[in-house]
Amino acid sequence: MNKNRSDIEKKDKWSIEKIFSSEKDWHLAYAEIKPKDAFLKFKEILCYKDKLNESEKIFSSCLEKYFNTARKLEKLFTYAHLYLDEDLSNDKAKNIFGLISNLLVDFETNTAWIEPEILQIEEKKLRKYLLNPSLKDFRFYIEKLLKLKQHTLSKEQEEILARSSQSLEVCDLVFSSLNNADIKFNNILDKNNKTYPLSHATYFNHLQSEDRVLRKNAFENYHQKYLDLQNSLTELLYGNIKNTNFVSNARKYKSSLEFKLFPNNIDAQVYFNLIKTVKENISSLHKYVTLKKEKLQVDKVHIYDLYTSIVKKIELKKSYEEAKKIVLDSVSILGEDYKNMLKKGLNEDRWIDVYETKNKKSGAYSSGCYDSLPYILLNFEGSLNDIFTLAHESGHSMHTLLANKNQSYIYSHYPIFLAEIASIFNEHILFDLLIKTLKKEEEKKYIINFMLDNINRILFRQTLFAEFELEIHNMQNKNIPLTTSLLKKIYKELYQFYYGKDFEVDDLLQVEWARVPHFYSPFYVYQYAIGFSIALFASKKIKKDPSYKEKYLSILKKGDSDYPLNILKDADIDILKPVFITEAIQYFNDLLENFKN
Ligand SMILES: [Zn+2]
Repeated sequence: MNKNRSDIEKKDKWSIEKIFSSEKDWHLAYAEIKPKDAFLKFKEILCYKDKLNESEKIFSSCLEKYFNTARKLEKLFTYAHLYLDEDLSNDKAKNIFGLISNLLVDFETNTAWIEPEILQIEEKKLRKYLLNPSLKDFRFYIEKLLKLKQHTLSKEQEEILARSSQSLEVCDLVFSSLNNADIKFNNILDKNNKTYPLSHATYFNHLQSEDRVLRKNAFENYHQKYLDLQNSLTELLYGNIKNTNFVSNARKYKSSLEFKLFPNNIDAQVYFNLIKTVKENISSLHKYVTLKKEKLQVDKVHIYDLYTSIVKKIELKKSYEEAKKIVLDSVSILGEDYKNMLKKGLNEDRWIDVYETKNKKSGAYSSGCYDSLPYILLNFEGSLNDIFTLAHESGHSMHTLLANKNQSYIYSHYPIFLAEIASIFNEHILFDLLIKTLKKEEEKKYIINFMLDNINRILFRQTLFAEFELEIHNMQNKNIPLTTSLLKKIYKELYQFYYGKDFEVDDLLQVEWARVPHFYSPFYVYQYAIGFSIALFASKKIKKDPSYKEKYLSILKKGDSDYPLNILKDADIDILKPVFITEAIQYFNDLLENFKN
């Protein structure tokens, strides 16, 4: 039975009262910003429309008002979503969350004209604006926009594209409502005929079970639903690919890949290097599958055997206080300042909502905004996984804190490309500490296995996904029609290549692509594999040279104030050279050897 929120000690609940001391305060701030005139929303910003090219004064006032309002809205939103996640059945929280969500949509709709209008200003004039000290803080923001200018169309063409944007989202929306609302899974049985519910939330837990019957039933029942809809799901995915291709063509990009990588200034070579390097070293993954086969004593490893532990589960139960201490010890490598900031966050600043309570949001995340502390939601029970989650989310929160401290509001939101580095870095240093301190051999094996599984899921599997995306988008570029059987064939071949001769690609696995929401955000998942490898690379660098920590921390402090390529280059990481990927795979190999001995 879950506890009530009132049963939890204050020290284990997050301090959202520091954002707004009460709901009343929230409403006061909301009333201040809410447009009074339903027909002229955000008129203090709208009044600049069609005037941005008149003077730098108008230009800078408009941007200042825009970012100030965005900042205030973000603060209101942060409080509302944290408050709601404490108890998803709380009507008061639902109400304020609804209010601010609607207001954000209004804000976006009523300010969507700003960036296109900036891009219509003559470049020479814009560059002259930027010389003005009052616009100093907007320089990189404008630079980024200017880079997009070469792919910006005439005003009329832009208007047509903008008007088509809602129709272009339909495939994604239909997939998401099928996937989240319409598809219902049947209950499944374990080896003793006990019944379990199957859902998106429980699926992965079942796959980790020791009971092969339960794992197989979970996998088959789950994917059968997608197989039943395979033709419609093909059309949706194909539609999404065609839409991406349409916009990419209209904007005169060479390919959909270039289109998606362009805003972050990532060279397509980074993407190709990832796939090439992983494939050249794929024998490491094959060895891992063979090890699974031997340990699980099966003829062939199926997808439903890949996520179960091959060593006896260790009940490494730790209290939250112990877990905090372990995580704090692990970050010592980053210096006293970092450690003390995190310590303060975990203790007196109360970043974390620790325990599961009635109707609290499940899972774990890190959140916060420029005008709040970083906050972390946990459902802590004390397992090894929970300690890694605490380390992971602390990494995100420290990234947020350092970016907020060192950047102005507009550059405080670090890009997705860099987002997983700080979190995964902290997992790696926790792993190193545990390997050193755990005494028993079986405990060591347990966490090595845990890390091997992580590397499989994040580095290898996401690269397989990335290659699949590249292939299917390329087919569209070459005018080859995508059919269900073609998608399944490509998918099967990839799985066979990546997982090798000891792996059986089940017929149902060939339809796995049909359930992956990320494929509706093209060329996104490769960032997980890259971020993971960079984090590992940086954590190894610090071990060899402790003074490297300053360079590492500079990545976190820079937020979004430069392109990821440059931010990483300043920390001696050249993303155009794949050494960090080779080293990540070498590390995987070493762990594998270590495990066997
Ligand atoms: Zn994360």
